[in-house]
Amino acid sequence: MTRTDSQPDTTTPWTETSVDWPGDFNDAYISEVLKDAWGHEKLRPLQAHAVNAILHDRDVLLVLPTGGGKSICYQLPALLTGRPAVVLSPLVSLMKDQVDALRANGISASALHGLMDERERREAIQQYVHGEISVLYLAPERLAFGALQEIIRSADPCLLAIDEAHCISQWGHDFRPDYRKLESLRKSLPGVPVIACTATATPRVQRDVSEQLHLDEPVKLVGSVDRPNLIFRMKTRTKALDQIEEVLNRHKNEASIVYTLSRNDAERISSGLQKRGIDAAHYHAGMTGKQRQKVHDRFRLDRLSVVVATVAFGMGIDRGDVRCVIHATMPKSLEHYQQEAGRAGRDGLDAECVLLHSAGDAVRWQRLLERSAQEAIEQGADSRQIDISMTAQREQLQHMAKICRGDLCRHRAISEYFDEEKNEALQTESNCGACDVCLGEIKILERSTP
Ligand code: ADP
Ligand code: MG
Repeated sequence: MTRTDSQPDTTTPWTETSVDWPGDFNDAYISEVLKDAWGHEKLRPLQAHAVNAILHDRDVLLVLPTGGGKSICYQLPALLTGRPAVVLSPLVSLMKDQVDALRANGISASALHGLMDERERREAIQQYVHGEISVLYLAPERLAFGALQEIIRSADPCLLAIDEAHCISQWGHDFRPDYRKLESLRKSLPGVPVIACTATATPRVQRDVSEQLHLDEPVKLVGSVDRPNLIFRMKTRTKALDQIEEVLNRHKNEASIVYTLSRNDAERISSGLQKRGIDAAHYHAGMTGKQRQKVHDRFRLDRLSVVVATVAFGMGIDRGDVRCVIHATMPKSLEHYQQEAGRAGRDGLDAECVLLHSAGDAVRWQRLLERSAQEAIEQGADSRQIDISMTAQREQLQHMAKICRGDLCRHRAISEYFDEEKNEALQTESNCGACDVCLGEIKILERSTP
């Protein structure tokens, strides 16, 4: 089968339980390297499958929730094979964090991105070409540089990893046109396995990622998206500030995030909460870097309980003990909701996610979508592409609104959206005990509403 006519959807996941590792890569050796470099005892099951597949030169599509441990799947093979891993990553801040974390573990790593000066970039390239780097991160815009392919190929990489791979799909929630340039890098590395990683991908996006990257009969590894420790509540917004305060009162002095749609909303709600004696601060992209850093640091060091923020507050929140995430407005897709609400309870302990919505939210989003499409067209974007993207986004918005209004178990609704077929705990008749629907709160509310 050639790469272009591969049928990723019909391929079965890696099922062999006992395989011969190529070379010296037996389980004991892998555990030793893992323990040495990261201090972890063993790979989680899907990590082991992913690493196994890569070592067998198979392409991999890995869908694991945030915190699931995707990074090790592409970092470890570099240490095992002694050949570099090349990783495409969309955000410079994430890239820096990962490079720092690897270096702290004694693994040589570097990055190529637009915020480096020419000298730093040259140095990184020199080191890579001379085989001195185990993991090299690349920013998508670097793909436009013609010489890059030759440079990458010269050090004989053991894999090409695409982090946040949903960015390549127009059906995803964060399409980045730069990701489309991956195709030629991929073609210039025949025989090098590709591992596409994402935390949020519907079946359609998974298919699209496979096609766009020309994955060759990829081993598809999809972890559970369900987070049983999160209690979901979706309520009609009546008096936002009162409702938010009521929820926050259940989490006094605990880390909480309130997401708003606009910068104005963030400032308004934050000051409203402050007036009610709640320790809150706002955060959005309109603030200076210094102001944002201050809020970030105070929250991280537990000197601030509540951050009221736009989606600009997200990547790099390294607090596992966020006990509550409130959405003051409906997000524009379930993908966004899953990511944002998913910042609660990463320590595995109970946490609460409350979404306040009203009919006007979808209308507001629709207007914003149309405005940004208009701007993109004015800036010369391809109108056919914009049409596809608008259709996808409209569908996502409608789906989100439907779930808010619906009375299906929230855990089940989210799992079904991401096509998790075999989640036994969420079978039709079962009660998750962790959402407003299953806790019987929706009916109580309806009865008490005049
Ligand atoms: P993701 O990219 O999927 O969000 P990360 O790769 O950042 O997740 O890993 C999340 C956390 O899980 C990290 O703190 C990492 O050290 C930890 N982790 C990953 N794999 C293992 C493992 N096999 N055993 C223990 N901890 C692990
Ligand atoms: Mg990650």
